[in-house]
Amino acid sequence: MCSKPFRHFPMPDLLTSDTSRREFMRTLSLGAGASLLGASALASPLDWLAPERKLGVALVGLGNYSTGQLAPALQQTKYCQLAGVVTGSPAKAAQWQKQYGIPAKNCYDYQTFDRIIDNPAIDIVYVVLPNALHAEYVVRAAQAGKHVICEKPMATSVADARRMIAAMQKAGKKFSVGYRLHFEPHNQAMMRLGQTQAYGKITHLAADNGFRFGSGGTPWRLNKKLSGGGPLMDMGIYCLQGCLYTKGQVPVSVTAKFTPETGTGIFKEVEAGLNWQLRFADGSVADCRTSYTENVSRLRAETANGWFELEPAFGYGGLAGRTSKNDGLLNLPNINQQAAQLDDFAQCVLLNKPTRVPGEMGLRDVQLLEAIYRAAETGQSAATTDVVQLIDRVKP
Ligand code: NAD
Repeated sequence: MCSKPFRHFPMPDLLTSDTSRREFMRTLSLGAGASLLGASALASPLDWLAPERKLGVALVGLGNYSTGQLAPALQQTKYCQLAGVVTGSPAKAAQWQKQYGIPAKNCYDYQTFDRIIDNPAIDIVYVVLPNALHAEYVVRAAQAGKHVICEKPMATSVADARRMIAAMQKAGKKFSVGYRLHFEPHNQAMMRLGQTQAYGKITHLAADNGFRFGSGGTPWRLNKKLSGGGPLMDMGIYCLQGCLYTKGQVPVSVTAKFTPETGTGIFKEVEAGLNWQLRFADGSVADCRTSYTENVSRLRAETANGWFELEPAFGYGGLAGRTSKNDGLLNLPNINQQAAQLDDFAQCVLLNKPTRVPGEMGLRDVQLLEAIYRAAETGQSAATTDVVQLIDRVKP
């Protein structure tokens, strides 16, 4: 399955080996291929010059997100496909082999994972484990010479995030965080409207994201050692991201307050909810709220000349937006976000392009998450001027 061709274009002779094809793609991405192929090919080189096979992705951790979202998305991707799995459950491995036609040689458990170094069918390792395990598996994947996508939050400490980036840099491979909304039309439009100041300067932002943690909730999310924290790590990170990419700036400070436990008795190690306020250099603020006791999903910007907002803003589908001008600029289609994210990363690998959601952005967010917790614990404003100054910029 992994070497199945997906296009029927004859490949030029010089591109018949994997290495020469990739080298050619690399040259193309650097612009030197322009005279060879003509300008139109450069607009979308992969559509013109298809790879012989889709890049192979191995999912590490076959829990809810891999099962419900990533594996189905990998049936829709153009440039990559589900080629392997890493799981502690032999029964799951057998089921996935059958369901997705994955060869047994591409299935690993957590002990045999490092042998993936010898498997050319796996190009990309996608780490979809509980938060505290991300660092170990990203470092091991780097040592195996694979490109890596790591789920959010990238790590449970700044130290781990730096260690992951260093390992990926040493490996010389591409590294991104599973920030699917950077590839989603409504959230991309929020970035565009905010960063280009389409309705004037943003004076205030509001973002809420949470869900009611019922009996179906996965227990590791309530275990601080495995999760690194409660809804802030899980859901609040979308509020943080949304405010930064809409405003187009990294904040300078934050204040925060935990919301009280509501009598469920389940939030012993992690917070039940948290409210925080980001302050930007121009004096504007973003009021954010995350919770494991409420179903909320909203991102709103107030501007000099009006407002624009998404509600719901952060889910896998059904996103909807509106603006004060009723101009339809947020009437957009919902797409398969994970397929778009995965295909973008595959193109970054094939064309040697930088990803818009690199490990450094994951580090920036872990730095901000730590600052929010520090502010909530001390009751003091925490400065955030020393965090990585990185924004996913819209094209002018
Ligand atoms: P999950 O609990 O459903 O799956 C986790 C998987 O890890 C399970 O298969 C479990 O068996 C395995 N695992 C291995 N070692 C484990 C250990 N020591 N303890 C517990 N489980 C262990 O969780 P999930 O919802 O799939 O989340 C996984 C990751 O994906 C998290 O980092 C989460 O934040 C992220 N996630 C991202 C999105 C998104 O929209 N980008 C959505 C959901 C989850």
